Amino acid sequence: MSRDPRFDMLFEPVQIGPVVARNRFYQVPHCNGMGYRDPTALAAMRGIKAEGGWAVVCTEQVEIHYSSEITPFIELRLWDDRDMPGLVRMADAVHEHGALAGIELCYNGMNGSNLYSREIPMGPAHLPVATFTYDPVQARAMSKRDIASLRRWHRAAAVRAKRADFDIIYVYAGHALGGLHHFLSRRYNDRTDEYGGSLENRVRLLREVIEDTRDAVGDRSAVAVRVTVDELLGDEGLSKAEMEDAFGLLGELPDLWDLVLGSWEDDSRTSRFADEAFQEPFVTGFKRLTTKPVVGVGRFTSPDTMVRQVKAGILDLIGCARPSIADPFLPKKVEEGRVEDIRECIGCNICVSGDFTMSPIRCTQNPSMGEEWRRGWHPERIRRKTSEANVLVVGGGPAGLEAAMMLGRRGCDVALADAGDALGGRVSREARLPGLSAWARVRDYRTYQIAQMPTVQTYLASPLTAKDVLGFGFAHVAIATGSTWRRDGVGRLHTKPIPLDASVPVFTPDDLMAGKRPSGREIVVFDDDHYYMASVLAELLVADGHRVRLVTMASRAADWTYHTMEQHRIQTRLLELGVIVDAHRGVRATVPGGVELVCKFTGRTEIVACDALVPVTARLPDDGLYTDLMARQADWRDAGIVRVQAIGDAWAPGTIAAAVYAGRRFAEEFDLPEHDGDTVPFRREITGLVDPADPEAGRAPLSLADGSP
Ligand code: ADP
Ligand code: SF4
Repeated sequence: MSRDPRFDMLFEPVQIGPVVARNRFYQVPHCNGMGYRDPTALAAMRGIKAEGGWAVVCTEQVEIHYSSEITPFIELRLWDDRDMPGLVRMADAVHEHGALAGIELCYNGMNGSNLYSREIPMGPAHLPVATFTYDPVQARAMSKRDIASLRRWHRAAAVRAKRADFDIIYVYAGHALGGLHHFLSRRYNDRTDEYGGSLENRVRLLREVIEDTRDAVGDRSAVAVRVTVDELLGDEGLSKAEMEDAFGLLGELPDLWDLVLGSWEDDSRTSRFADEAFQEPFVTGFKRLTTKPVVGVGRFTSPDTMVRQVKAGILDLIGCARPSIADPFLPKKVEEGRVEDIRECIGCNICVSGDFTMSPIRCTQNPSMGEEWRRGWHPERIRRKTSEANVLVVGGGPAGLEAAMMLGRRGCDVALADAGDALGGRVSREARLPGLSAWARVRDYRTYQIAQMPTVQTYLASPLTAKDVLGFGFAHVAIATGSTWRRDGVGRLHTKPIPLDASVPVFTPDDLMAGKRPSGREIVVFDDDHYYMASVLAELLVADGHRVRLVTMASRAADWTYHTMEQHRIQTRLLELGVIVDAHRGVRATVPGGVELVCKFTGRTEIVACDALVPVTARLPDDGLYTDLMARQADWRDAGIVRVQAIGDAWAPGTIAAAVYAGRRFAEEFDLPEHDGDTVPFRREITGLVDPADPEAGRAPLSLADGSP
């Protein structure tokens, strides 16, 4: 197949200073929780993006100096020459597939607490560090000498990046993460010298660093500058108008402009809070202020939207982080006329949670993300089948769909059976909840793929019993029958059922998703789950005219969504809808006409009147079929069954991402010898040990960064 001529424009090469991007698909810098701890896994992940057709593949932020590090978060480092091999490995992996390698050099400044190096952070002003974690650390206002040092350090890092063979070298002044941003913004910069005050003064340091970088690497590498086009703080911070003026001063200095919006949370909003291309009004207009190419993001998954951005003169290069995570082969699929094969990002930000929890990146849509080297998984390819064994997958939720699809890709004969009238399982149910419609993409991608596969047969309206399964004669059986929300209050707070009074009806999340509704007005939602479910159910109930009190032992609603950068928006939305967020309390029981709440700190109780309770506490696996089959192992041989495995929520209820991952893992491993857990089943990188007796071991070599002897 060849591509639709409508999309030809996306495959035009773009000159970026001394280098040429082969097309307009640009993987902008993105964090991944692997960084300096997992450099080989990281290189493999970036290499696969290059293989998938991206013209440019960038690093995450790379700390350029030990006085500017963001422990506990795990990014890349370029503090001295010893950090080079990991970066060289990544650049090589990207080059191997014909893409340009970009590196985002970052002096974090006031965004780094330096918990590891114990150096005093530096910024434009004496201010507490602007971290997510409220560390009790203050940054020191930089002196002229500090500024000169910072320029030298940045230059040294740029030279190292060039030596590592990076084609595009960033100066990062965006997201309030790149420390140069703090100099630009009136919010942080209260200086009275030539680096503060007027816009001309506030851009001075950025200008100097851009010029230094060009001077150091411009012969070989392009210089990109990443800036925030609007801090969304009104007069308190950088406004679009001010940034347009800044473009008047700096517009022609770099080889490429990379435009972002506000902080990272502002820019990478979930689909619950922002649509594709929502940044457009903020980014529009900057391209007219420079002759240099402009890249920007917008959770772009539709090639039509991409073409529109280019045609309308908003962007030259289509920047993607999440869409490239969900589908590293997105450009190839557009190029090959396979747009319907794109695995579209659902905008859930589970990928972000990897970075926030300092664990390797994961993705709901792409279970191979982060596992390219660790487990040898590829987003598009999988080993051919090793035998003629056929497989029955029971349950067509995310786990079953992924298992069936990947087994089909292996060439296996697969039957996928579901009790319901449609595929999708929990994804179909949850995608109908407020704000979650994009999540249906998890189902839609897989059902479309499966429909093309001659060896995968789907059977709907097929509730299976152990007897049915024993009668079929499949060698391998995956039980992906999902889970059910508990009704008895058991979860984190109560590990035993709570007393329930019959006068207060209980509605579980499954009841509400099935369309059942309380008749009374006052509803207590007890969120002992702390992810999204309680908050979307609160929205649903408010939309139906109920008054909702969301009770949580945490200090805030949907506490875990801090890791998906949504917590703030969720709490704002709930408060604006009139939901009472009742923090630090738990539901201890229902009593006649209400619930008994208990304070987390004092243990004091209070009766609050309500008409119904919605406990969002925990789920139980729907593993009846699995346990029945395990109880009948004596019959397997006659039935031709070799192995039965429960996967996804039927094994242990978890996230949709975990269910998809479990489906992939089943498809990868069902025909391997059963793993006994005695060996680590994935690759990992171990820090090389130094000789502790050697006084020089572990010190930086005294070489000059530019490579001169
Ligand atoms: P997961 O997230 O692990 O994929 P889901 O709850 O999304 O789990 O999906 C479970 C699916 O399994 C549902 O679509 C349900 O209809 C189906 N199912 C449950 N029990 C049976 C059964 N005994 N036979 C066939 N299908 C079943
Ligand atoms: Fe998109 Fe979710 Fe995957 Fe992130 S984890 S890339 S938001 S689908």
